[in-house]
Parts: sequence; C-alpha cells; structure tokens
Amino acid sequence: MSTPGLAQTIVDVRTGVHADKTRFVIELDQAQPYRAFVLTDPDRAVIDLPDVKWSGEPAHEVGGVGLVGNLRYGLFRPGISRVVIDLEGPATIANHFALDAGGGSGPRIVVDLRSATASEVASAKPVESGRWADYARTLSRSSSTTASLEAPEGVGEKRVVVIDPGHGGVDPGAIGVSGKYEKGIVLEAARTLQKTLEATGRYEVVLTRDRDVYLPLRERYQVAHEVDAGLFISLHADSHPSRSLRGASVYTLSDTASDKEAAALARKENKSDVIAGADLSGYTPEVSSILIDLAQQSVNENSWHFAEMLVDNLAREIKVLNNTHRFAGFAVLKSPNVPSVLVELGYLSNRQDEQVLSSEGFRQRISTALTKAIDRFFDRQERLSRS
Ligand SMILES: [Zn+2]
Repeated sequence: MSTPGLAQTIVDVRTGVHADKTRFVIELDQAQPYRAFVLTDPDRAVIDLPDVKWSGEPAHEVGGVGLVGNLRYGLFRPGISRVVIDLEGPATIANHFALDAGGGSGPRIVVDLRSATASEVASAKPVESGRWADYARTLSRSSSTTASLEAPEGVGEKRVVVIDPGHGGVDPGAIGVSGKYEKGIVLEAARTLQKTLEATGRYEVVLTRDRDVYLPLRERYQVAHEVDAGLFISLHADSHPSRSLRGASVYTLSDTASDKEAAALARKENKSDVIAGADLSGYTPEVSSILIDLAQQSVNENSWHFAEMLVDNLAREIKVLNNTHRFAGFAVLKSPNVPSVLVELGYLSNRQDEQVLSSEGFRQRISTALTKAIDRFFDRQERLSRS
C-alpha cells in the first residue's frame, strides 16, 4: 500500500500480443492497489492507481501493439492517478492480477484485454485488486479535496473572477513542437493572472485547478456558479497542422461556429473528458437547447462585451490572430449564469509561440491585458446596474 509522503513510481509499461489477448503490464517500485474498467465511444481501457509518479517522460505513444493504441497518464483527482489506453476496438478485461517483485522486475499489475462485442462491453463490470476498496475508503474519509472549490475568505465584498487553466492531469491538452504541455503553460499563466488581479485589491480569484489534476468540463463552470463569480475565463493554447500559425484568439459560446477552424477547435477542446477517461454516463443530458438559449441570452451578451474588450487590450500587448473574437460551441463555456470566455493564448505547434508562451514576460503581458479588460468589464456592469 502507498506510504504517505513517499513518491510511488511507475517504472515501466509493456504490451504483449497473444493469440487471444493483448497483455498490458504496469511495473511499479512498490505494489499498489488498482481498479480497471473499459469505456466506449471511443473505446478505452482505464487503470486507476493511488497517486503515483511516472519515472522519466510519460510515454504518450506506445501505439499500435495489439488492441493498445495511444496511452495517457496523469492525476485524475487527488489520490487517484489514471492510465488511459485508447483501444483499437471494443474490448473487455479478460483477466487481471498482481505479481510480486521477482525475476529482475518490480511488482507488476497485469491486465489482459480481449476483443469483445459491443453488448459484452456494455455489460462489463469494473475489476479491482483486493486492496482497492480499502484504499478508496481512506480516500473518501480524507476528502478535503474539494477545498479549492469553496469560496475563499472575503468573497462577497470583492469582484469574483474564476480562472480556469484548461486540461490537467491525465489530459495534457496540446503538446508543443519541443514537447511542452498546454496543461502546464496555462496553469502558470493562471497563477500569474491570479496574482496580478489580487494585487489590485479589487478581485477575489478562484482557480478551477491549482495543480496538475484533471477536472471534468462541467465541474469547471460549476465552480464559477458555486462562488457566484462575475466572470469565468478559461485559458488554453492551441496547436495547428500549419506550424507557421501564431497568435492569440478569444472565443465565446455560440451554437453556430464563426468558421470551420473555430468549430474544429471546439470539438478538440470538448474532448477533454473523453481523453481523461471520465465516465459521464451518470450525468443527465443537457436540458433542451431552447431553455438554455433563453437563459444564456443575457449572459452571452455580457460574454460578448467582455470578449471585445479583451481583444482590444490583448492586441496592445501580444500577437493576436485576425478576426480575434470567434464563436463556437465550447462545453466549458456553457454556464447559464456567468459570463464566460475562452482564451487561446497562441499555438504550441509554432516554435516561437511555444517559447513565448512559456516565458514570464508573456505571462505578465497577458495578465496586464486581462486585468485592464476585466476592470473595464466590471466598471461597465456596475454603471449599467446603477442606471
Ligand atoms: Zn485546450
């Protein structure tokens, strides 16, 4: 079992193809409890472990071995690290077991995947090691893990802004030309923006995540709702097949995308939950889009105003795309009551942008631009509510 304070480590992962199965092996430095299950749409297998590190660089591509495609790894929620395996087709877990250290290898977790029909996958149950239930119980007992979602002291007197660093944990987001992860770049940017805003004395800032952890899209805008935020800003960085493309853009929610690029970007960003292997089957489907449209009309109008102000201020500080303000159906912007925008800070597929976005100077410049736009936005709101 994991020892508090000691970093447990994944040493290696291996895949082996047999006539009737694909064997996936995780080697650790210490034995760990685990749970595993399969998901569809798209087909994935998920292995959950206690909070463990990965020695060396997480392998994102072990691809093309039997049923096993790409691989992702990261913190799914505090206390649970997740390995997500993209599968080449529907499959179930045919067998699973733990092996003690021996034969030159550390303790191992072995999961055998077997091709299956859709109905077999639908009725497949999660599997777990003997000690997983105990571990899960200790987790739920010590779950002060939602602390970051609670309103900080003093909320109510100051203007409340929620900053949402995109992706995180098992979902790296875009990966730059030299290997930088979007999830890390936007977290750093969010921290600088938080400091800048709070230094004015006018704002209380809540981050949806303040570390490298995955958070479902819906929970991100729910944070804004819970703390009664006046503004929700989701920070991202894009990548594009054309490596020369550079510059920032600002997005607001719309059923109709402003162009094909915006639609494709929204589809990509909306995949976060799928990439992280989240099982969203327990969520009720979205209320009819007409109801949402009605509730969102005034919120959308305010989002639009803020986006326009932000574009104006950003363009004075950093490189921006033409038609900087764009529209598309981003799931993370679907708060029915908090004005929300999504900022793509630039393109990690561009070498220069990747470098710039990782710099302290850039973080300062966008924080300045965002703070000015946020000031203008709240000043306008307060003027309107007085008149
Ligand atoms: Zn993103």
